[in-house]
Amino acid sequence: MQRATHGPRSPYENCQIVLTTKHEKVVAIRPAFQELLSAEVVECEFDTDQLGTFSGEVERPGTALECARRKCVAGMRLAGAKYGLASEGSFGPHPTIPFFACDYEILYFIDQERGIQVHESILSEKTNYRTACLGSFQELDQFAEKSRFPSHALIIRPNVWRDRSVIFKGIQSQDVMHHAFSQCLNLSEDGRVWVETDMRAHVNPSRMAVIGELALKLGKRLATECPSCKTPGWGVVSYEKGLRCEYCNLPTELVSFEISGCPSCQFSERKGRSDGQKSASQRYCGWCNP
Ligand SMILES: [Zn+2]
Ligand SMILES: [Zn+2]
Repeated sequence: MQRATHGPRSPYENCQIVLTTKHEKVVAIRPAFQELLSAEVVECEFDTDQLGTFSGEVERPGTALECARRKCVAGMRLAGAKYGLASEGSFGPHPTIPFFACDYEILYFIDQERGIQVHESILSEKTNYRTACLGSFQELDQFAEKSRFPSHALIIRPNVWRDRSVIFKGIQSQDVMHHAFSQCLNLSEDGRVWVETDMRAHVNPSRMAVIGELALKLGKRLATECPSCKTPGWGVVSYEKGLRCEYCNLPTELVSFEISGCPSCQFSERKGRSDGQKSASQRYCGWCNP
């Protein structure tokens, strides 16, 4: 990827930014930071499993945002770094599209030099996330196909498990999948097997792509200065609902204004939606379409 050769200098030119990770996410994040900020993202190998894992062996305390911040701080301490990054993903049913799964990703950035913290998030339906409790090899093969296996890995464990060490992760071949499944069938107290998509970034290309998209979003934000104090990281920090119905002009639940803010000073700006939408369709109106 080419470096930006025009425009203002990046506030992070030639800076090393430490990414706290265990799952090779640097591959997805590095290009965006190189291109937009001329900054180098380097990995800090920190066992992020200490802060909780996807498969639930360790409970993750707090929200995903808190977890991302903690991870970032931990890695920066370990590496003695001034600039740090950490990412955190959550998966589940899509909040607005029925029967769709979603990947909610957060990317957290800390600049100790300027004393700022900036984060961006993305809610994407580009995910293979799914879980199921299965009893036959036929069901397993169907699950695998829907999960984009074997380019995307699976996790298999007994459905009712006394011995929590029995868990097969990162499965990417048919043989291993069938072997793990029959083992778990035998070991599960109810004769059923829990199968889920492995959401760790290095074995889930869909997730890697979403993280890459998010890295671009955060990179652009860090390349944007506050109009007042010139600190990097200016961007949308909150939304105001109340977009007016196209028919009756009463406010709806849709976003009407975007509030941009600075991570350092109090300056903020309130603007109409960046997608230019000025009114809401009648179907979102509680009066026209109760
Ligand atoms: Zn209306
Ligand atoms: Zn400012």
